[in-house]
Amino acid sequence: MDQKLFDLVYESVVKREPTYEGVYYTGVRTTKIVCRPTCRARTPHATNVTFYHSLEAALRAGFRPCKRCKPEANGALRPDAALAAQVDAMIEDRYNEKLTLATLAASLAISPYHLQRIYKQVTGHSPAEQTERVRLKHAQRRLLESDATIAEIGMSVGYNGPSHFTTWFGRRMGISPTEYRNGARGVDSYDSQ
Ligand SMILES: [Zn+2]
Repeated sequence: MDQKLFDLVYESVVKREPTYEGVYYTGVRTTKIVCRPTCRARTPHATNVTFYHSLEAALRAGFRPCKRCKPEANGALRPDAALAAQVDAMIEDRYNEKLTLATLAASLAISPYHLQRIYKQVTGHSPAEQTERVRLKHAQRRLLESDATIAEIGMSVGYNGPSHFTTWFGRRMGISPTEYRNGARGVDSYDSQ
């Protein structure tokens, strides 16, 4: 976004004018909260603001919807999709931790059952599958782009113990991490689904 447009949108935020309601969302980087441009909360400093074209983009970047202006309500993005985007952001952020359905659900203050059902409805797969996809993506990149050992890479994507990592990687790709690093492509079992 160029400075001129930024100034224009920011001015509407300062004045709480609805001009850009539904067009831009105000991400406040200091609080990691995303608002409607008309939010009644204290006006954030321009230097702390990033405008997003969609609420989903802001949620994927790790922002949480403001409890006051509720940008997820009555918008183009249904609450279910907003929830799924929040889960994706959390997984992208914490994929190297022991990330269970219960952990994710607790962070969102909803029941694990509810989370599993809604997430699957929106994305077609479970949060556990998404966690594995993200882990696989990072493992692949590190195998090709870093000099880290197999054990280190396994650890960096949440697998303690190289044999556990190698077994998992092999099941997903049909080849070992070392073979992948040496140029074999394998078949990503997620892409081929
Ligand atoms: Zn707000």
